[in-house]
Amino acid sequence: MTAYHCRRAVLPGGVESDVLVESVDGLVTDVAIGIACPAGVTPLGGLTFPGFANAHSHAFHRALRGRTQGARGSFWTWREQMYAVAERLDPDTYYSLARAVYAEMVLAGYSCVGEFHYLHHGPGGHPYADPNAMSHALTAAAADAGIRLTLLDTCYLTGGIGAPLTAVQQRFGDGDGHSWAMRVDAFRPSGTHTRVGVAIHSVRAVPAAEIPVVAGWAAEAGAPLHVHVSEQRAENDACRLAYDRSPAQLLADAGALTARTTAVHAVHIDAADIALLGRHSVTGCACPSTERDLADGLAPVTDLRAAGGRTCLGTDAHVSIDPFAEMRGLEYGERLRTERRGNLTSAELLDAATDFGHAALGWPGAGRIAVGAPADLTAVSLAGIRFAGVTAGNELDAAIFGATAADVTDVVIGGRHVVRDGRHTGMGDVTGALRQAIAAVATS
Ligand SMILES: [Zn+2]
Repeated sequence: MTAYHCRRAVLPGGVESDVLVESVDGLVTDVAIGIACPAGVTPLGGLTFPGFANAHSHAFHRALRGRTQGARGSFWTWREQMYAVAERLDPDTYYSLARAVYAEMVLAGYSCVGEFHYLHHGPGGHPYADPNAMSHALTAAAADAGIRLTLLDTCYLTGGIGAPLTAVQQRFGDGDGHSWAMRVDAFRPSGTHTRVGVAIHSVRAVPAAEIPVVAGWAAEAGAPLHVHVSEQRAENDACRLAYDRSPAQLLADAGALTARTTAVHAVHIDAADIALLGRHSVTGCACPSTERDLADGLAPVTDLRAAGGRTCLGTDAHVSIDPFAEMRGLEYGERLRTERRGNLTSAELLDAATDFGHAALGWPGAGRIAVGAPADLTAVSLAGIRFAGVTAGNELDAAIFGATAADVTDVVIGGRHVVRDGRHTGMGDVTGALRQAIAAVATS
Protein backbone atom coordinates (compact mmCIF):
# COMPACT_ATOMS: atom_id res chain seq x y z
CA MET A 1 0.00 0.00 0.00
CA THR A 2 1.20 3.52 -0.76
CA ALA A 3 -0.26 6.74 0.59
CA TYR A 4 0.07 10.44 -0.20
CA HIS A 5 -1.34 13.35 1.73
CA CYS A 6 -2.47 16.33 -0.36
CA ARG A 7 -2.71 19.69 1.35
CA ARG A 8 -5.31 20.66 -1.26
CA ALA A 9 -6.64 18.29 -3.91
CA VAL A 10 -8.94 18.61 -6.91
CA LEU A 11 -11.53 15.87 -6.38
CA PRO A 12 -14.51 15.14 -8.67
CA GLY A 13 -16.73 17.24 -6.39
CA GLY A 14 -14.34 20.17 -6.06
CA VAL A 15 -11.21 21.22 -4.20
CA GLU A 16 -10.79 19.77 -0.69
CA SER A 17 -8.20 20.16 2.08
CA ASP A 18 -6.07 17.52 3.80
CA VAL A 19 -6.84 14.65 1.48
CA LEU A 20 -5.29 11.26 2.17
CA VAL A 21 -5.04 9.10 -0.97
CA GLU A 22 -4.24 5.42 -0.47
CA SER A 23 -3.50 2.94 -3.22
CA VAL A 24 -2.70 -0.72 -3.71
CA ASP A 25 -1.11 -2.08 -6.89
CA GLY A 26 -1.35 1.36 -8.48
CA LEU A 27 -5.10 1.81 -7.95
CA VAL A 28 -6.70 4.18 -5.45
CA THR A 29 -8.34 2.26 -2.61
CA ASP A 30 -9.36 5.15 -0.36
CA VAL A 31 -9.76 8.93 -0.50
CA ALA A 32 -10.28 10.51 2.92
CA ILE A 33 -10.93 14.22 3.38
CA GLY A 34 -9.93 16.33 6.38
CA ILE A 35 -7.25 13.98 7.68
CA ALA A 36 -3.98 15.26 9.14
CA CYS A 37 -0.89 13.84 7.45
CA PRO A 38 -0.07 10.57 9.27
CA ALA A 39 3.53 9.83 10.18
CA GLY A 40 5.45 8.17 7.39
CA VAL A 41 3.07 9.33 4.63
CA THR A 42 4.51 11.46 1.82
CA PRO A 43 3.04 14.99 1.91
CA LEU A 44 2.18 16.78 -1.35
CA GLY A 45 2.00 20.56 -0.98
CA GLY A 46 0.23 23.11 -3.14
CA LEU A 47 -2.72 21.94 -5.20
CA THR A 48 -2.87 18.31 -6.38
CA PHE A 49 -4.60 17.47 -9.64
CA PRO A 50 -5.32 14.07 -11.16
CA GLY A 51 -2.53 13.16 -13.59
CA PHE A 52 -2.93 14.86 -16.97
CA ALA A 53 -3.41 12.99 -20.26
CA ASN A 54 -1.53 14.14 -23.35
CA ALA A 55 -3.87 12.71 -25.97
CA HIS A 56 -1.85 13.56 -29.08
CA SER A 57 1.91 13.25 -29.39
CA HIS A 58 4.47 12.78 -32.14
CA ALA A 59 7.50 12.38 -29.89
CA PHE A 60 10.13 13.10 -32.55
CA HIS A 61 8.65 16.51 -33.40
CA ARG A 62 10.19 17.73 -30.14
CA ALA A 63 13.51 17.91 -32.01
CA LEU A 64 12.05 20.78 -34.07
CA ARG A 65 11.45 23.12 -31.12
CA GLY A 66 13.15 26.42 -31.84
CA ARG A 67 14.13 25.28 -35.31
CA THR A 68 10.92 26.04 -37.18
CA GLN A 69 8.91 28.53 -35.13
CA GLY A 70 10.58 31.61 -36.57
CA ALA A 71 10.11 30.54 -40.16
CA ARG A 72 7.57 31.75 -42.66
CA GLY A 73 5.82 29.31 -44.95
CA SER A 74 2.92 26.96 -44.34
CA PHE A 75 1.99 23.70 -42.69
CA TRP A 76 3.33 22.02 -45.80
CA THR A 77 6.78 23.68 -45.71
CA TRP A 78 6.98 22.88 -41.97
CA ARG A 79 6.22 19.25 -42.86
CA GLU A 80 9.36 19.10 -45.02
CA GLN A 81 11.45 20.13 -41.98
CA MET A 82 9.69 17.52 -39.89
CA TYR A 83 10.40 14.83 -42.47
CA ALA A 84 14.10 15.69 -42.39
CA VAL A 85 14.17 14.63 -38.72
CA ALA A 86 12.06 11.55 -39.40
CA GLU A 87 14.64 10.43 -41.95
CA ARG A 88 17.37 10.29 -39.29
CA LEU A 89 15.69 8.15 -36.67
CA ASP A 90 16.33 4.48 -35.97
CA PRO A 91 15.12 2.37 -33.03
CA ASP A 92 18.07 3.41 -30.83
CA THR A 93 17.93 7.15 -31.47
CA TYR A 94 14.14 7.12 -31.33
CA TYR A 95 14.25 5.33 -27.96
CA SER A 96 16.63 7.95 -26.54
CA LEU A 97 14.63 10.87 -27.91
CA ALA A 98 11.22 9.52 -26.88
CA ARG A 99 12.46 8.59 -23.39
CA ALA A 100 13.64 12.16 -22.83
CA VAL A 101 10.50 13.70 -24.34
CA TYR A 102 8.23 11.50 -22.23
CA ALA A 103 10.28 12.44 -19.17
CA GLU A 104 9.73 16.12 -20.04
CA MET A 105 6.01 15.31 -20.15
CA VAL A 106 6.13 13.64 -16.73
CA LEU A 107 7.98 16.63 -15.28
CA ALA A 108 5.19 18.81 -16.71
CA GLY A 109 2.53 16.77 -14.91
CA TYR A 110 1.42 14.34 -17.59
CA SER A 111 0.86 10.76 -16.43
CA CYS A 112 -0.37 9.35 -19.75
CA VAL A 113 0.47 9.95 -23.41
CA GLY A 114 -1.09 8.87 -26.68
CA GLU A 115 1.65 8.41 -29.25
CA PHE A 116 0.33 8.74 -32.80
CA HIS A 117 2.98 6.50 -34.26
CA TYR A 118 3.63 6.13 -37.98
CA LEU A 119 7.43 5.92 -38.23
CA HIS A 120 7.34 2.15 -38.54
CA HIS A 121 10.10 1.03 -40.89
CA GLY A 122 13.70 1.62 -41.88
CA PRO A 123 14.88 3.95 -44.65
CA GLY A 124 13.26 3.16 -47.97
CA GLY A 125 10.45 1.37 -46.16
CA HIS A 126 12.52 -1.72 -45.45
CA PRO A 127 11.18 -3.45 -42.34
CA TYR A 128 13.49 -3.91 -39.38
CA ALA A 129 14.27 -7.50 -38.35
CA ASP A 130 11.39 -7.05 -35.92
CA PRO A 131 8.84 -5.05 -37.95
CA ASN A 132 7.64 -3.51 -34.67
CA ALA A 133 11.10 -2.42 -33.53
CA MET A 134 10.06 1.24 -33.46
CA SER A 135 6.93 0.43 -31.44
CA HIS A 136 9.06 -1.46 -28.93
CA ALA A 137 11.45 1.51 -28.75
CA LEU A 138 8.53 3.79 -27.81
CA THR A 139 7.16 1.31 -25.29
CA ALA A 140 10.56 0.99 -23.60
CA ALA A 141 10.96 4.78 -23.64
CA ALA A 142 7.64 5.26 -21.86
CA ALA A 143 8.46 2.58 -19.29
CA ASP A 144 11.80 4.22 -18.47
CA ALA A 145 10.21 7.67 -18.27
CA GLY A 146 7.51 6.26 -15.96
CA ILE A 147 4.54 7.39 -18.05
CA ARG A 148 1.49 5.43 -19.21
CA LEU A 149 1.45 4.99 -22.97
CA THR A 150 -1.26 4.31 -25.48
CA LEU A 151 0.58 3.39 -28.64
CA LEU A 152 -1.68 4.44 -31.50
CA ASP A 153 -0.32 2.36 -34.36
CA THR A 154 -1.02 4.48 -37.39
CA CYS A 155 -1.96 3.26 -40.85
CA TYR A 156 -0.26 5.45 -43.48
CA LEU A 157 -0.46 4.18 -47.05
CA THR A 158 -0.49 7.07 -49.53
CA GLY A 159 1.33 10.38 -49.97
CA GLY A 160 -1.96 12.14 -50.74
CA ILE A 161 -5.27 10.95 -52.14
CA GLY A 162 -4.33 8.71 -55.08
CA ALA A 163 -0.63 9.61 -54.74
CA PRO A 164 2.20 7.20 -53.96
CA LEU A 165 4.33 7.65 -50.85
CA THR A 166 7.29 9.96 -51.34
CA ALA A 167 10.81 8.70 -50.59
CA VAL A 168 10.77 9.73 -46.92
CA GLN A 169 7.19 8.57 -46.45
CA GLN A 170 8.17 5.02 -47.44
CA ARG A 171 9.11 4.48 -43.81
CA PHE A 172 5.52 5.09 -42.74
CA GLY A 173 3.84 2.60 -45.09
CA ASP A 174 2.83 -1.04 -44.80
CA GLY A 175 1.63 -1.42 -48.39
CA ASP A 176 -2.02 -2.02 -47.65
CA GLY A 177 -4.43 -2.25 -44.76
CA HIS A 178 -4.13 -6.01 -44.47
CA SER A 179 -0.34 -5.86 -44.06
CA TRP A 180 -0.71 -3.01 -41.56
CA ALA A 181 -3.14 -5.13 -39.50
CA MET A 182 -0.85 -8.17 -39.57
CA ARG A 183 2.03 -6.09 -38.21
CA VAL A 184 -0.15 -4.57 -35.48
CA ASP A 185 -1.46 -8.03 -34.54
CA ALA A 186 2.13 -9.18 -34.02
CA PHE A 187 2.89 -6.34 -31.56
CA ARG A 188 2.75 -7.51 -27.97
CA PRO A 189 3.94 -4.79 -25.59
CA SER A 190 5.36 -5.88 -22.29
CA GLY A 191 4.32 -4.34 -18.99
CA THR A 192 1.04 -2.93 -17.77
CA HIS A 193 1.88 0.68 -18.59
CA THR A 194 1.13 0.30 -22.32
CA ARG A 195 -2.15 -0.12 -24.17
CA VAL A 196 -2.49 -0.42 -27.92
CA GLY A 197 -4.85 1.65 -30.02
CA VAL A 198 -4.84 2.40 -33.72
CA ALA A 199 -5.00 5.40 -35.98
CA ILE A 200 -5.87 6.39 -39.51
CA HIS A 201 -3.28 9.03 -40.30
CA SER A 202 -5.80 11.05 -42.33
CA VAL A 203 -8.03 10.70 -45.36
CA ARG A 204 -4.96 11.90 -47.28
CA ALA A 205 -2.91 8.88 -46.22
CA VAL A 206 -5.47 6.07 -46.07
CA PRO A 207 -7.69 5.37 -49.12
CA ALA A 208 -11.44 5.14 -48.47
CA ALA A 209 -11.43 1.43 -49.28
CA GLU A 210 -8.85 0.74 -46.53
CA ILE A 211 -10.48 2.80 -43.76
CA PRO A 212 -12.82 -0.06 -42.73
CA VAL A 213 -9.78 -2.29 -42.10
CA VAL A 214 -8.47 0.06 -39.41
CA ALA A 215 -11.94 0.82 -38.03
CA GLY A 216 -12.66 -2.92 -37.93
CA TRP A 217 -9.45 -3.64 -36.01
CA ALA A 218 -10.40 -1.04 -33.41
CA ALA A 219 -13.98 -2.32 -33.15
CA GLU A 220 -12.86 -5.90 -32.64
CA ALA A 221 -10.32 -4.91 -29.98
CA GLY A 222 -12.58 -2.32 -28.36
CA ALA A 223 -9.57 -0.01 -28.76
CA PRO A 224 -9.26 3.72 -29.35
CA LEU A 225 -9.24 4.89 -32.98
CA HIS A 226 -7.62 8.25 -33.66
CA VAL A 227 -7.51 10.18 -36.93
CA HIS A 228 -6.30 13.60 -38.04
CA VAL A 229 -9.39 15.37 -39.40
CA SER A 230 -9.50 18.61 -41.39
CA GLU A 231 -6.40 20.21 -39.93
CA GLN A 232 -5.89 22.12 -43.16
CA ARG A 233 -8.35 23.38 -45.77
CA ALA A 234 -6.33 21.67 -48.51
CA GLU A 235 -7.31 18.29 -47.03
CA ASN A 236 -11.00 19.16 -47.32
CA ASP A 237 -10.55 20.36 -50.91
CA ALA A 238 -8.72 17.18 -51.95
CA CYS A 239 -11.27 14.98 -50.20
CA ARG A 240 -14.24 16.69 -51.84
CA LEU A 241 -12.55 16.50 -55.23
CA ALA A 242 -11.83 12.78 -54.91
CA TYR A 243 -14.83 11.57 -52.94
CA ASP A 244 -17.41 14.37 -53.22
CA ARG A 245 -17.71 14.61 -49.43
CA SER A 246 -15.89 16.01 -46.42
CA PRO A 247 -13.30 14.01 -44.45
CA ALA A 248 -15.75 13.62 -41.54
CA GLN A 249 -18.45 12.32 -43.89
CA LEU A 250 -16.00 9.95 -45.58
CA LEU A 251 -14.96 8.55 -42.19
CA ALA A 252 -18.59 8.18 -41.12
CA ASP A 253 -19.50 6.36 -44.33
CA ALA A 254 -16.58 3.98 -43.78
CA GLY A 255 -17.71 3.16 -40.24
CA ALA A 256 -14.83 4.98 -38.54
CA LEU A 257 -16.85 7.31 -36.31
CA THR A 258 -17.87 5.86 -32.94
CA ALA A 259 -17.63 6.86 -29.29
CA ARG A 260 -14.11 5.32 -29.34
CA THR A 261 -13.03 7.70 -32.11
CA THR A 262 -10.91 10.77 -31.52
CA ALA A 263 -10.85 13.35 -34.30
CA VAL A 264 -7.56 15.18 -33.91
CA HIS A 265 -7.70 18.92 -34.67
CA ALA A 266 -11.12 18.97 -36.42
CA VAL A 267 -10.46 22.61 -37.23
CA HIS A 268 -12.05 23.13 -40.65
CA ILE A 269 -15.35 21.36 -40.04
CA ASP A 270 -18.72 22.78 -41.09
CA ALA A 271 -22.13 22.51 -39.45
CA ALA A 272 -22.87 19.16 -41.11
CA ASP A 273 -19.52 17.75 -39.96
CA ILE A 274 -20.11 19.00 -36.41
CA ALA A 275 -23.54 17.35 -36.31
CA LEU A 276 -22.06 14.12 -37.65
CA LEU A 277 -19.18 14.00 -35.16
CA GLY A 278 -21.53 14.92 -32.32
CA ARG A 279 -24.11 12.29 -33.30
CA HIS A 280 -21.41 9.61 -33.10
CA SER A 281 -20.15 10.93 -29.71
CA VAL A 282 -16.69 11.50 -31.18
CA THR A 283 -14.04 13.17 -29.03
CA GLY A 284 -12.26 16.08 -30.67
CA CYS A 285 -8.60 16.45 -29.72
CA ALA A 286 -7.53 20.07 -29.70
CA CYS A 287 -3.82 20.89 -29.73
CA PRO A 288 -3.93 24.65 -29.13
CA SER A 289 -0.18 25.39 -29.00
CA THR A 290 0.54 23.38 -32.16
CA GLU A 291 -2.51 24.66 -34.02
CA ARG A 292 -1.33 28.21 -33.38
CA ASP A 293 2.25 27.36 -34.33
CA LEU A 294 1.22 25.77 -37.62
CA ALA A 295 -1.37 28.44 -38.42
CA ASP A 296 -4.03 25.74 -38.65
CA GLY A 297 -6.97 27.80 -37.46
CA LEU A 298 -9.40 27.54 -34.53
CA ALA A 299 -11.53 24.45 -33.97
CA PRO A 300 -15.23 25.04 -33.18
CA VAL A 301 -14.83 23.39 -29.79
CA THR A 302 -18.02 24.50 -28.05
CA ASP A 303 -20.11 23.76 -31.16
CA LEU A 304 -18.83 20.18 -31.19
CA ARG A 305 -19.53 19.81 -27.48
CA ALA A 306 -23.06 21.19 -27.93
CA ALA A 307 -23.63 18.63 -30.70
CA GLY A 308 -22.72 15.72 -28.41
CA GLY A 309 -18.94 15.47 -28.77
CA ARG A 310 -16.24 15.80 -26.15
CA THR A 311 -12.89 17.54 -26.16
CA CYS A 312 -9.49 16.33 -25.04
CA LEU A 313 -6.06 17.94 -25.40
CA GLY A 314 -2.64 17.13 -26.83
CA THR A 315 0.71 18.82 -27.27
CA ASP A 316 1.15 17.24 -30.73
CA ALA A 317 4.34 18.76 -32.19
CA HIS A 318 5.57 19.82 -28.74
CA VAL A 319 6.31 23.47 -29.37
CA SER A 320 5.67 23.47 -25.66
CA ILE A 321 4.84 20.65 -23.24
CA ASP A 322 2.58 22.21 -20.65
CA PRO A 323 -0.90 21.01 -19.69
CA PHE A 324 -1.85 24.41 -18.26
CA ALA A 325 -0.95 26.19 -21.51
CA GLU A 326 -3.12 23.75 -23.45
CA MET A 327 -6.09 24.10 -21.06
CA ARG A 328 -6.17 27.88 -21.17
CA GLY A 329 -5.26 27.78 -24.86
CA LEU A 330 -8.49 25.90 -25.49
CA GLU A 331 -10.58 28.57 -23.81
CA TYR A 332 -8.62 31.48 -25.25
CA GLY A 333 -9.00 30.05 -28.75
CA GLU A 334 -12.74 29.90 -28.26
CA ARG A 335 -12.75 33.51 -27.03
CA LEU A 336 -10.96 34.64 -30.19
CA ARG A 337 -13.21 32.57 -32.43
CA THR A 338 -16.53 33.50 -30.83
CA GLU A 339 -15.67 36.95 -29.41
CA ARG A 340 -17.22 35.73 -26.14
CA ARG A 341 -15.58 35.04 -22.76
CA GLY A 342 -16.27 32.11 -20.47
CA ASN A 343 -16.94 29.39 -23.04
CA LEU A 344 -15.53 26.55 -20.93
CA THR A 345 -15.30 26.60 -17.15
CA SER A 346 -12.12 25.60 -15.35
CA ALA A 347 -13.81 22.31 -14.43
CA GLU A 348 -14.57 21.68 -18.11
CA LEU A 349 -11.02 22.53 -19.16
CA LEU A 350 -9.79 20.14 -16.50
CA ASP A 351 -12.07 17.38 -17.83
CA ALA A 352 -10.48 17.84 -21.26
CA ALA A 353 -6.99 17.47 -19.77
CA THR A 354 -7.81 14.58 -17.44
CA ASP A 355 -10.71 12.12 -17.63
CA PHE A 356 -11.78 12.83 -21.24
CA GLY A 357 -8.16 12.53 -22.39
CA HIS A 358 -7.67 9.25 -20.56
CA ALA A 359 -10.94 7.87 -21.93
CA ALA A 360 -9.87 8.83 -25.47
CA LEU A 361 -6.67 6.85 -24.90
CA GLY A 362 -8.41 3.74 -23.61
CA TRP A 363 -7.91 4.32 -19.88
CA PRO A 364 -11.52 4.79 -18.73
CA GLY A 365 -11.79 5.74 -15.08
CA ALA A 366 -8.35 7.35 -15.04
CA GLY A 367 -7.91 11.10 -14.61
CA ARG A 368 -9.89 11.39 -11.36
CA ILE A 369 -8.77 11.22 -7.77
CA ALA A 370 -11.31 8.59 -6.79
CA VAL A 371 -11.50 5.04 -5.52
CA GLY A 372 -10.80 2.55 -8.30
CA ALA A 373 -8.91 5.04 -10.49
CA PRO A 374 -5.18 4.73 -11.17
CA ALA A 375 -3.19 6.51 -8.45
CA ASP A 376 -1.95 9.31 -10.71
CA LEU A 377 -1.37 12.65 -8.98
CA THR A 378 0.18 15.94 -10.10
CA ALA A 379 1.05 18.48 -7.40
CA VAL A 380 1.47 22.14 -8.32
CA SER A 381 3.12 24.69 -6.10
CA LEU A 382 1.12 27.86 -5.60
CA ALA A 383 3.85 29.43 -3.48
CA GLY A 384 5.50 31.45 -6.25
CA ILE A 385 5.10 35.13 -7.00
CA ARG A 386 2.56 34.49 -9.75
CA PHE A 387 0.11 33.18 -7.16
CA ALA A 388 0.57 35.86 -4.52
CA GLY A 389 -2.89 37.00 -3.46
CA VAL A 390 -4.64 33.86 -4.63
CA THR A 391 -7.12 32.42 -2.12
CA ALA A 392 -8.81 29.07 -1.64
CA GLY A 393 -11.81 30.39 -3.51
CA ASN A 394 -9.95 31.11 -6.74
CA GLU A 395 -6.94 28.78 -6.69
CA LEU A 396 -8.33 26.47 -9.40
CA ASP A 397 -8.87 29.33 -11.87
CA ALA A 398 -5.50 30.78 -10.87
CA ALA A 399 -3.74 27.49 -11.58
CA ILE A 400 -5.44 26.81 -14.91
CA PHE A 401 -5.02 30.37 -16.18
CA GLY A 402 -1.72 31.19 -14.47
CA ALA A 403 0.33 28.06 -13.75
CA THR A 404 3.02 26.62 -15.97
CA ALA A 405 4.65 23.22 -16.22
CA ALA A 406 7.54 24.65 -14.18
CA ASP A 407 5.22 24.93 -11.15
CA VAL A 408 4.76 21.13 -11.02
CA THR A 409 6.67 19.76 -8.04
CA ASP A 410 5.57 16.15 -7.68
CA VAL A 411 4.08 13.52 -9.96
CA VAL A 412 2.79 10.13 -8.85
CA ILE A 413 1.96 7.54 -11.52
CA GLY A 414 0.41 4.24 -10.51
CA GLY A 415 1.35 4.99 -6.90
CA ARG A 416 5.04 5.54 -7.80
CA HIS A 417 6.63 8.86 -6.93
CA VAL A 418 8.09 9.58 -10.39
CA VAL A 419 8.79 13.29 -9.88
CA ARG A 420 9.86 14.51 -6.45
CA ASP A 421 10.53 18.19 -5.76
CA GLY A 422 10.79 18.89 -9.50
CA ARG A 423 13.26 16.11 -10.18
CA HIS A 424 12.66 12.92 -12.15
CA THR A 425 13.46 10.19 -9.65
CA GLY A 426 14.37 7.55 -12.24
CA MET A 427 16.24 9.63 -14.82
CA GLY A 428 17.75 12.56 -12.98
CA ASP A 429 19.09 14.91 -15.63
CA VAL A 430 16.27 15.00 -18.17
CA THR A 431 17.55 18.27 -19.66
CA GLY A 432 20.88 16.65 -20.50
CA ALA A 433 19.16 13.56 -21.90
CA LEU A 434 16.98 15.72 -24.14
CA ARG A 435 19.91 17.83 -25.30
CA GLN A 436 21.90 14.75 -26.24
CA ALA A 437 19.00 12.96 -27.95
CA ILE A 438 18.08 16.02 -30.02
CA ALA A 439 21.69 16.71 -31.03
CA ALA A 440 21.81 13.18 -32.46
CA VAL A 441 18.94 13.77 -34.89
CA ALA A 442 18.51 17.52 -35.43
CA THR A 443 19.30 18.91 -38.84
CA SER A 444 20.46 22.36 -37.71
ZN1 LIG B 1 -0.66 14.95 -35.26
